[in-house]
Amino acid sequence: MLSMVEVKCPHCGVRGQILLPPLGALIVGPCPNCDQMVVVFCGKVLALDKEIMLKGTATEKHEHLMGILVDFLANRVARVVEQLSPDMADGLRDYAPEAQDNAQPPAPEAEVGQPEHMQVDPRITDTELDEFVHSELPRLDNKDYFKAIFD
Ligand SMILES: [Zn+2]
Repeated sequence: MLSMVEVKCPHCGVRGQILLPPLGALIVGPCPNCDQMVVVFCGKVLALDKEIMLKGTATEKHEHLMGILVDFLANRVARVVEQLSPDMADGLRDYAPEAQDNAQPPAPEAEVGQPEHMQVDPRITDTELDEFVHSELPRLDNKDYFKAIFD
């Protein structure tokens, strides 16, 4: 079962849902609403400079993307460092992940029509991941599809 993630364009503020990208994925493309470039990383949508991403040299694109990601990670790391304390030795914990911009939880998906007793395996199977990578993911490049699920 594939998960959707709520996202918000940092340029124009339009909200929408996209398929949760595979862990570690970096997805770069235009916002379907304002056409500005964004990068989706770790469930966040970060603003990119369209001029650089479309017309820059490879080095300029690299430096721009790295700069955006480094800023993002620097904020995350700073937040973790603020909260580090001696009791961290107790075990792994989540150090205040970035608060969601939107308060409402994601809508429960596809529960209609499923028998209540049906056990749903929450794990994403290799097959599903494979299907996602090979059929769903490329559709992100398809503006109509992206817009359809973004709106
Ligand atoms: Zn936008």
